[in-house]
Amino acid sequence: MKVLVVGGAGYIGSHTVYELIKDNQEVIILDNLSSGYKELVHPKAKFYLGDIKVKSDVENVFKQEKIDVVMHFAAKLIVPESVKEPLAYYYNNVEGVRVLLEVMNEHNVKKFVFSSTAAVYGEASGVCQEDMITKPINPYGETKLACERMISWVANAHDFKFVIFRYFNVAGADESLKIGLMKDQLTHLIPLAIQGIIGIRDHLTIYGNDYPTKDGTCVRDYIHVSDLASAHVLGAHYLFEGGKSETINLGSSQGFTVLEVAQAVNEIAPLKVVIGPRRDGDPAELIASNEKAQRILKWVPKYELKDIVLSDYNYRKKISNR
Ligand code: UDP
Repeated sequence: MKVLVVGGAGYIGSHTVYELIKDNQEVIILDNLSSGYKELVHPKAKFYLGDIKVKSDVENVFKQEKIDVVMHFAAKLIVPESVKEPLAYYYNNVEGVRVLLEVMNEHNVKKFVFSSTAAVYGEASGVCQEDMITKPINPYGETKLACERMISWVANAHDFKFVIFRYFNVAGADESLKIGLMKDQLTHLIPLAIQGIIGIRDHLTIYGNDYPTKDGTCVRDYIHVSDLASAHVLGAHYLFEGGKSETINLGSSQGFTVLEVAQAVNEIAPLKVVIGPRRDGDPAELIASNEKAQRILKWVPKYELKDIVLSDYNYRKKISNR
């Protein structure tokens, strides 16, 4: 397969490129490097600098490459930023996908793997099934849901086939430690907790311990980025082999509280924890049912919480003096 990875210089995109190359696929990357890094680009991938919102940039790639499957990772994804700058999110996340789909259609490329998010479920609490009502509570989730719907209408009109993946909480780094989540992109629990044990911050603030959960802190479903990336490879094969369009959660079907995550980090080195107020918009418990991913793609995550935490620790230690 020749796979175009849009956003292949970013965190999840670069890990997917690594898994595709391990699977001996040919990889083309299109990235505008707005939040990606040239150093995350796999040396065996062919790189085009360009923006999916600029039609000529996308056309340039499709004119030169005979693409079989497109994967999209080129989204803005910081929730508080999306609340402050909704138009920038609609422009980048929705218009970018619209242009990409238009060019794909014009070049008769009709297989699409799209990164979506658990944020489409909004304040749903508990175990999320794919057929649950979607009700985002921030512009980030809204733009992803708008894309999901756009993709499905395009599929209806133009015989496209898609796999939409809804991600839960992603962390960790490729075992080579050549790629990972960079220092300036940290807003999530695991990397922040790891920074608390490698001398970059002196404690972790836990946002609220009065939720209706077993220890009062929020429950989330954590998944290793390489497991997530492997699911994309399976998704591409599935479409290539004629699979029908599907929307699929990627998580572990298992929840951990923030305190349990802090405890897993504390097992590597002592972590100081401070209890702070709740953060706006945090549902008490979000867990993915991954039954559908197992059934349709035969995908089972390999890594457990302790592996994810250790992987993130190893990467953060490696880049801490850069
Ligand atoms: N969290 C926390 N302290 C932090 C960062 C996150 O207590 O410094 C909590 C957050 O309130 C949520 C969970 O950890 O309950 C996961 O948050 P994260 O931002 O990693 O991902 P989200 O679930 O919001 O996508």
